[in-house]
Amino acid sequence: MQQAIHPSAIVDEGAILGEGTRVWHFAHVCGGARVGRGCSLGQNVFVGNEVVIGNNVRIQNNVSVYDAVTIQDDAFCGPSMVFTNVYNPRSAIPRKDQYRPTLVRRGATLGANSTIVCGTTVGQYAFVAAGAVVNRDVPDFALMAGVPARQIGWMSRFGERLDLPLRGDAETTCPHTGERYVLKNGVCALAEQAAPAGQSAGKMEFIDLKSQYQALRPQIHARMQTVLDHGNYIMGPEVQELEAHLAEYTGASDCVTVASGTEALLIALMAIGIEPGDEVITTPFSFIATAEVIVLLGAIPVFVDIEPDTCNINAALIEEKITPRTRAILPVSLYGQPADMDQINAVAKRHGLFVIEDGAQSFGATYKGRKSCSLSTIGCTSFFPSKPLGCYGDGGAIFTSDATLAQAMREIRIHGQSGRYVHTRVGVGGRMDTLQCAIVLAKLERFDWELAQRRRIAARYDELFDGRIDVVRQRPGCASVFAQYTIKVANRAEVQAELRERNIPVAVHYPVPIPMQPAYAKHGPSAHIPVAEEMARSVMSLPMGPYMDDASLERVAAAVLHAAGR
Ligand SMILES: *Cc1c(COP(=O)(O)O)cnc(C)c1O
Repeated sequence: MQQAIHPSAIVDEGAILGEGTRVWHFAHVCGGARVGRGCSLGQNVFVGNEVVIGNNVRIQNNVSVYDAVTIQDDAFCGPSMVFTNVYNPRSAIPRKDQYRPTLVRRGATLGANSTIVCGTTVGQYAFVAAGAVVNRDVPDFALMAGVPARQIGWMSRFGERLDLPLRGDAETTCPHTGERYVLKNGVCALAEQAAPAGQSAGKMEFIDLKSQYQALRPQIHARMQTVLDHGNYIMGPEVQELEAHLAEYTGASDCVTVASGTEALLIALMAIGIEPGDEVITTPFSFIATAEVIVLLGAIPVFVDIEPDTCNINAALIEEKITPRTRAILPVSLYGQPADMDQINAVAKRHGLFVIEDGAQSFGATYKGRKSCSLSTIGCTSFFPSKPLGCYGDGGAIFTSDATLAQAMREIRIHGQSGRYVHTRVGVGGRMDTLQCAIVLAKLERFDWELAQRRRIAARYDELFDGRIDVVRQRPGCASVFAQYTIKVANRAEVQAELRERNIPVAVHYPVPIPMQPAYAKHGPSAHIPVAEEMARSVMSLPMGPYMDDASLERVAAAVLHAAGR
């Protein structure tokens, strides 16, 4: 690996610098920093611990990149420009836990002496003039100037002024490259990324995993390289390392990583001894895996209707469904928000039942200050790529603070093996592989920042809808991780069609309640689930993710309001 680090520069142990990156005189790079390939860090540059810098980024002399700043590929930071990370600093008041994240997207230019106030996102190829003070999000390709910065025009990828008005619809070409730019509803995009005429602006991802990869590329590659070098592809050291981290994160004493979220649920049910004929109370409004694992074990899913506001199982309706054959309650923390776990645990306690939380969508969420997956006997989660904490394949984890159950689940995960070739129980092939654990470890470093972004996006949607659109509600005392931002609309088919026409992807979680699925019909007749049926007809999830920019968000919100006729 060829980097050129000047002898007067200090690069702390642990810092990752990509190939061809140069560090000039008197620079200081902290140990947690991740810097990509082909970057240049000028004289007297400081790079903090919680900083991620992409490839080919130029940081000119005297710039301090403080914690919570992310700079994507090809961005330019002019000499003596300033990042901040605390919004309202006071010397006598500690605010280290109040850093606001700043994101500089691909190709953006931050002029000499400009200031980027923390908590803002600078859009792709945006251009901030020298001396400007940016205190709000900057759209892609926007040219910003002044104090506070205002948009005065548009700039091409190449760095030439574009002949476009600030608002409305128009088209032009870059005077240098001839690339075509389209302005639609005030959003500027390169023509090949833009929608056909008559529709508004460029393509959008429902969940943008590419931007996350861009932002985390150096640490993901480093972690994967370590696994490839040591070669312990199954049950390697990263498996234990991840389990220790995740257990600590949730507050549960034990974490057992497994092959998927589905496997996590299956192993949890096996560990508590679910047998054919046992009844397990669960929600009809979830991904199919929740009920599938119950049926796979020959047990009977007993469906309890959901609450209309949160779409989670209605805890008040559980008790009347308990019979002598009931063994467990399996609530789902849908869309990233835990169900009413105190009430569920109380019912379970009265009747001697296990509670297994399906937290596949809610890792990182809190319920009355406690973390999802540590709220009941067992908590299960998934690292499917599009979940809030995802890997690049299948993966999952089980959490418990019961040492006996933890041991049982560790054994079931490896074919019920308690020692080499000693199989004390029937198990499954349910391990999570080392490479996937390494990827989750890399992503965990930015996870809390990502959750803050998800919550910021959700709050912004709420603000833009301003009560005019019915949304899935948040239970007081809960902090969702917004695996989905879900709304309820009466004319869903029309709203979906209009959004698709505007190149906005949407999804429905879930269009059919589980007991109404053909394979589950025999469990259906007894299920009285009017609320779930109603929600299945009206819910719709909008694009959401930590790397979503404000312009896209506003575009989605405007389209929803228009389509819903508000
Ligand atoms: C994703 C999901 C699962 C299954 O997780 P996999 O890792 O895909 O097997 C289970 N339950 C719910 C609620 C889910 O969203």
